[in-house]
Amino acid sequence: MSDDAETLFERIIAGEIPADVVYSDDTTFAFRDIRPQARVHVLVVPKKRYRNVAELAAADPQLLADVAKTAEKVAELEGIKESGYRVVFNTDSDAGQTVFHVHAHVLGGEQLGLFGR
Ligand code: C5P
Repeated sequence: MSDDAETLFERIIAGEIPADVVYSDDTTFAFRDIRPQARVHVLVVPKKRYRNVAELAAADPQLLADVAKTAEKVAELEGIKESGYRVVFNTDSDAGQTVFHVHAHVLGGEQLGLFGR
């Protein structure tokens, strides 16, 4: 898919592709990952598309802060704020980024394993 093409996540935000929506506000959108890697696995995306977290941080730090706040809001809504959770931004090839619309994975609801392979 070219960078100019509308990404999958833009279509999910627009409601053109069904998703299990957890939270939405003016600037961010959160929905359950279709292939959950933990009991709670929610993706948080800015409604405006940037390719990855570095581009988002450089172009619009306030929007990155909005994504972080929404990640915390999701943790609260999912009842995992107190027990703890992980926020991950996969970035490019070795990290396995497959959708080039920056998204935070919010993972929790169980004891998570260590990072690595
Ligand atoms: O970080 P990465 O780009 O690999 O993450 C993309 C995520 O989007 C995957 O975890 C995948 O399961 C999820 N996905 C989804 N709904 C889709 C397509 C992908 O939740 N329709």
